[in-house]
Amino acid sequence: MNARNTLKVNELGHLEIGGVDVTALKKEYGTPLYVMDKAYIEDMCNVYSKTLQTEYGNGLISYASKAFSCLEIYRIVNSLGLGADVVSGGELYTAVKAGFDTSKLCFHGNNKTEAELIMALENNVGTIVIDAYSEAEKLNSIAKSFNKVQDVLIRINPGVEAHTHHFIQTAKIDSKFGFSIENGDALEIVKYVLTKENLKLKGLHCHIGSQIFEKKSFALAVDKMIDFYKIVKDTLNYEFDVLNLGGGFGIWYSDGDAKINTSQYSEYIKTIAQTLNKSIKDKKVKKPYLILEPGRSIVGEAGITLYTVGNIKEIKGVKNYAAIDGGMFDNPRFALYQAKYTVCAAEKMNEPTNITYTIAGKCCESGDIIAEDCKLPTLNENDLLAVFSTGAYNYSMASNYNRNLIPPVVMVKDGSSYYAVKPQTYEDLIRNDI
Ligand SMILES: *Cc1c(COP(=O)(O)O)cnc(C)c1O
Repeated sequence: MNARNTLKVNELGHLEIGGVDVTALKKEYGTPLYVMDKAYIEDMCNVYSKTLQTEYGNGLISYASKAFSCLEIYRIVNSLGLGADVVSGGELYTAVKAGFDTSKLCFHGNNKTEAELIMALENNVGTIVIDAYSEAEKLNSIAKSFNKVQDVLIRINPGVEAHTHHFIQTAKIDSKFGFSIENGDALEIVKYVLTKENLKLKGLHCHIGSQIFEKKSFALAVDKMIDFYKIVKDTLNYEFDVLNLGGGFGIWYSDGDAKINTSQYSEYIKTIAQTLNKSIKDKKVKKPYLILEPGRSIVGEAGITLYTVGNIKEIKGVKNYAAIDGGMFDNPRFALYQAKYTVCAAEKMNEPTNITYTIAGKCCESGDIIAEDCKLPTLNENDLLAVFSTGAYNYSMASNYNRNLIPPVVMVKDGSSYYAVKPQTYEDLIRNDI
């Protein structure tokens, strides 16, 4: 299990999350079911915000909502005083409908449509992160038509390689995101955006990747960015007010990942704050307002998914498959990039785990696997399985593939539970069909 104190095994040998026995959750809501531990989410938000305050002072934690987006999460995050990142009109719409303070929203994306940019201005989104010349051009004329000067950042590629899976690595020179410092592209786009009358260039943004444990990677990114702030100061006589360093802090999924408790996540913020304080002093750069954008680490370990075991298939001497009532339609991450997960038999927590199972989804794809080679007790049909660390990039990546229903999301805290997202119905599936 992970390093959460709201997750435990009770006297019945059942998994308990947020003080609620999984058997009760199964009975009340059925499976498959996403369960989110609200106290964990609140803890992470508070640890990040407080550490940023005490270690650096001037800044904002902006929840990267693509990790898990629904009305309730925006309400929770907003009520704790954080900002949020959105990357599409749909995320922006959801945040607005949740009553989010839009001045604390930051709009990202490598190809925002014109309609999305207009929507951002209509809703007074605080910051828009520019990721193309044509986008700067487009946004400038939209801002002009609104008679506004829009605060913007530019996405920069600092050339830091963080050790993580290839597909979730974003700051190499050949990335589809950002402008590279190394080849001079970054300086050119800065000059260009500075000529735009209806854009106010507040600073720069970078995001070096995801699921990163190495604090050094973030320190390196800080130094590269401040080196560049100095270059801009010296060559263009322009000083930035804001530095946005993105997110990417790693979480525990399986053996081999560090188990970090909520308070220990403050170490990432400390490293960044200390490196930044030193870097601006050494290079005589104005102290920027610091924005950090954790997504996965705020909601990832807060989530577990509950499934019911269906058919079990033994291929003698080769593999045991346990098929579940969910699959890649609620969690596509194994199919996408062989993501690893830990699975347990949630009502048999004290039984010896001496059989190896591959947990297969119910979709018509051989790659529809949730986890391979899991050590579990002997499974029977109708056993309840729990998959850990499914709070990030699961519900938000879910689909109706094979016309399966996207499972509901339930929040648990202090022994009670409630729907954050209610179940889909078959009616929902044909709602837009003509
Ligand atoms: C995805 C993303 C994040 C969040 O990354 P996590 O690994 O979920 O913390 C932050 N900023 C940007 C720009 C992103 O694209």
